[in-house]
Amino acid sequence: MPKKKNPPKKQSVERKEPKKQLSISAIEEGTVIDHIPTDATFKVVDILKLNEHPGIVSIATNLNSMTLGKKGIIKVASKLLTESEFNKISVVAPEATVNIIRNFNVRQKIKVKIPDFIENVIKCSNPVCITNSEKVRTKFYITEKRPIKVKCHYCERLIKKEDIGIV
Ligand SMILES: [Zn+2]
Repeated sequence: MPKKKNPPKKQSVERKEPKKQLSISAIEEGTVIDHIPTDATFKVVDILKLNEHPGIVSIATNLNSMTLGKKGIIKVASKLLTESEFNKISVVAPEATVNIIRNFNVRQKIKVKIPDFIENVIKCSNPVCITNSEKVRTKFYITEKRPIKVKCHYCERLIKKEDIGIV
C-alpha cells in the first residue's frame, strides 16, 4: 500500500507568544477569583454553579503560587458574586481574592473572610439533625478558622474542615 506522504513538517521556528498570561483570556466585565487552593477550584465552580453560567468561564488549576504551592484561578464574565457566594467561597478557599473587573481593569480587590456565623452554606453531617429532616436553613458557628471547624446551631455537632459539605 502506498504510504501517504506525510505533510511537510511545520517549521519549528514558532513565533514566541507575546505574553504568557494570554493562556487564560482576560475578561471585560466580571469577576476573577484568585488564590484558590488547587483542590478547591472545582468546589468553587460548583458553589457558583458555573456549569450553568451563560457567559465566558475560564478555569485554571495547578498554577504555581508563592503562598499556596499550587493554586487555581476562575474568571467569570458578566457575573458579580452575592454575599452568600462570598461566604461559601470563604469556607472552601479562605485565602481567595475576588477581583471585580470593569473594562478589562481590576476595579476592586476583595479578600474573602470567613464569617463567625454562617447561614445556609454548610450542610449538617448529622443525619438526624432537624436541618436534614425538615426544610430548615442551616446555621453554623465558626469555632476555628484555620483550619476551619464549625458547630451546628441546632444539634451542636462539630464538623472538621475535611467533612464540611456545602448546601
Ligand atoms: Zn445539625
